[in-house]
Amino acid sequence: MGNIIISVKDLHKKYGSFHAVKGISFDVNEGEIFGLLGPNGAGKSTTLEIIETLREKTSGFVTVGGVDLDTDPNEIKKMIGVQLQTSGYYPNLNLTELISMFAGLYNQPTDPIALLKTVNLEDKSKAKFKELSGGQKQRFSIATTLINHPKIIFLDEPTTGLDPQARRNLWDLIKDIRAKGTTVIITTHYMDEAEVLCDRVAIIDSGKVIALDSPDKLIDELVASGFERPKQVKNANLEDVFIHLTGHELRADN
Ligand code: ADP
Ligand code: MG
Repeated sequence: MGNIIISVKDLHKKYGSFHAVKGISFDVNEGEIFGLLGPNGAGKSTTLEIIETLREKTSGFVTVGGVDLDTDPNEIKKMIGVQLQTSGYYPNLNLTELISMFAGLYNQPTDPIALLKTVNLEDKSKAKFKELSGGQKQRFSIATTLINHPKIIFLDEPTTGLDPQARRNLWDLIKDIRAKGTTVIITTHYMDEAEVLCDRVAIIDSGKVIALDSPDKLIDELVASGFERPKQVKNANLEDVFIHLTGHELRADN
């Protein structure tokens, strides 16, 4: 088990009288891909945004890289990569110019083409953000999180709305980023994605963690409890057919 890089203890968030996060606790190990899973409204984004210093918590304790959120949020900001709202992308700038602009904001010398290459978008260096496909937009947005060489990146539903190939391409990209030593926290609704990607997951429901372990252990526990899935009639599903027919190499167009 690695070093703990994020520690969340008894986190609460109230929006007025509505209690959205009700005492969430979890630790994230350095170098892992940690998933927050749960239905819409479970409190995933709220939890992430509090850790990212973008939202005030009501109570609880958060440390990132050993730094206390209450005492030194600016130090935390320097360590993390956050996906910006797409509205933050100036419409008249192309991808190279956008990266140069963010690099300037972060005061980080950056080679835009090299960075676009890591997300397989070098062919789109002169394109505007709005001209990209859904998968390309997500890859660009992930590239922007890497500009300040963060220890941790936060991805909030990066694959929602993408087609199966674009999702797989993004999984490969996220694994590459982790292989280079970056810790990844991701939220998703897709359980197949969490199973492939995440070392450990916290399942959140109505503002509480209801399970926390590796996907493998959670599945084993369910099976040990006597659960049996209705018999599989076929050895493949329609998604397998689609991927088999169309391939899933990192295409520039998805
Ligand atoms: P998730 O990301 O898991 O879908 P959120 O953290 O976005 O969940 O939201 C958790 C709950 O808090 C939801 O019921 C949502 O409607 C509510 N909520 C989120 N943001 C606000 C806000 N700014 N004001 C009031 N309620 C909010
Ligand atoms: Mg959300």
